Formats: sequence, C-alpha cells, structure tokens
Amino acid sequence: MSTLLKDNVAVITGGSSGNGRAIARRFASEGADIVIADIQESPREGGDLTHELIEAETEARATFVECDVTNVGDLETAVEAAEEFGGVTVMVNNAGIFHGEEFLEVDEDAFDRMMDINVKGVYFGAQAAAKRMVEAGGGRIINISSVAGLEGSGEFITYCGTKGAVRLLTYAMAANLGPDGVRVNAIHPGLIETTMTTEDYPIMGTDAEEDFLRSIPSRRAGQPEDVADTALYLASDLSDYVNGESLIVDGGMTNTQ
Ligand code: NAP
Repeated sequence: MSTLLKDNVAVITGGSSGNGRAIARRFASEGADIVIADIQESPREGGDLTHELIEAETEARATFVECDVTNVGDLETAVEAAEEFGGVTVMVNNAGIFHGEEFLEVDEDAFDRMMDINVKGVYFGAQAAAKRMVEAGGGRIINISSVAGLEGSGEFITYCGTKGAVRLLTYAMAANLGPDGVRVNAIHPGLIETTMTTEDYPIMGTDAEEDFLRSIPSRRAGQPEDVADTALYLASDLSDYVNGESLIVDGGMTNTQ
C-alpha cells in the first residue's frame, strides 16, 4: 500500500456520494483514516456505504457522522469525531448542491438554501477544523469550488455566486491560517460524472453532453477519481509549498476556446 497520507485523519463533508466518496476512498488507499460527514449514509449513485467500503477495501479506519453542513454544531461534531482516530489533519469541504434556475424567478428561500450549503457550510467547516489544526500546529483544508467559481453562467447565477465565494474564502483563509501551518486550497472541477450531472442538472446522457465534450480539449467528462487525485495532491506533502491556490480539473475546458 502506498502511504502518502499515513498518520492523517480526513473529514470529508458530502463524503457519502460522488466526488466526496471518491476522495474518501483515495485518501484511505494512501493510509488516511476517514470521517464521512453527510446528511445521509447511502451513496446517491447506489452501492455500499462509503465508510464500510473503505474498511473492506483498505486498512484504514472509517466512520460515518450525520452532518448537515448548514448546522455549525453538526460540523463541530464531525471534526470532534476525528479525535477517535487522532484528530483531523485534512478537512475537505465538499458538500454542495447545484441546479439550474431562471434568474427572474429565484426566491429568497432558494437563494438562502444554496448559500447556506455551498458557502456557509464551507466557512464553518473550515473554521471547525482550523481550531483543531492551529492548536496542533498545522493541517490542510481543501474547499471544493467549481469552474462556475471562475466564469459566470446566466443559467445558474446563484451557483456561480456560491462557488466564486468559495474561491475567495479559500484565498483569505490561506492568508489567515498560513502562518499557523495550515494550507488552504480550492479545487475547481469542470464537468464531472456524478448524480449532480446525471440528475440534478442533467448533462451526461443528454444532447448537451456532445456540446460539452466538444468544448473540452481532453474530449471526455471528468470522473470523481480525477477530482480525488487532485485532492490527494493537495492533502499530501507533495504540495507543501502550494497555498491559497485554485486548481482547475476540467480537461482544459476553462482556459481554451
Ligand atoms: P453529489 O453526487 O450530489 O454529492 C454531494 C453529496 O453532498 C451528497 O452525498 C449529498 O447528500 C451531500 N450533501 C448535500 N447537502 C448536504 C448538506 N447540507 N450537508 C451535508 N452533506 C450534504 O455531488 P458531487 O458532484 O459529488 O458534488 C460534490 C461537490 O463537487 C459539490 O460541492 C459540487 O458543487 C462540486 N462540483 C461538482 C461538479 C460536477 O460536475 N459533478 C462540478 C464542479 C463542482 P444527499 O445524498 O443527501 O443529497
């Protein structure tokens, strides 16, 4: 077994499904113990529970904590659960929602809900982990943004606002926490094949998929494992001098025409 994350303990919000599940499995394969913090245990895409799968396929320890990231107390409980394994060293603020919207029809409740999950959840998830990391002398925080946090789209304005906020929160947190040994970075996935892009905002398997693929130099959709490999780099010492950075994982879509 490779051991890039030996002696690490990672808390992963939204870790039951999609990108978070892939990140959890990848981290565990490199020796990290894992806390899955999610509102529900079952993967949206089906299959074994993520923490059970990890314990079956790796030597890592893993547990599930029911956590709604809009609730600060739940986030603190999730970080606290990591103490059983030695305390959080890597926090991945991954939980997020995405759907299209008609700007002129968005009401306050829909706006607040997306802001609460995508922005407040990242803010207080990072804060809960940072309290422990500063005390322990270091750690790594990885915030999952999106290419929608780099470019505006008229079809999902609120989502762009939340993911742009995650980008600048990341830079500001890196400035604040860097002197205490805590690195904070963001990942900006492009089109990744998860339930988010097959059901919530259907692209995969629709006519829109072809248009997307033409705009992606790598000519394929990303897989959750592509995001997980990037998260592994940011969580490990391989990225020891990478701080306050945005890493785009989109097959080249954003920076090309
Ligand atoms: P996903 O398959 O829907 O997984 C998201 C997970 O987060 C689900 O397990 C979901 O639980 C959980 N979750 C939702 N609300 C939560 C809350 N309030 N508290 C705790 N957990 C919550 O989506 P994904 O594609 O993996 O997305 C993960 C992250 O990647 C998100 O931040 C997303 O914006 C970002 N991202 C995705 C793509 C993409 O193309 N897929 C692209 C760019 C960025 P439930 O099962 O209960 O809903």
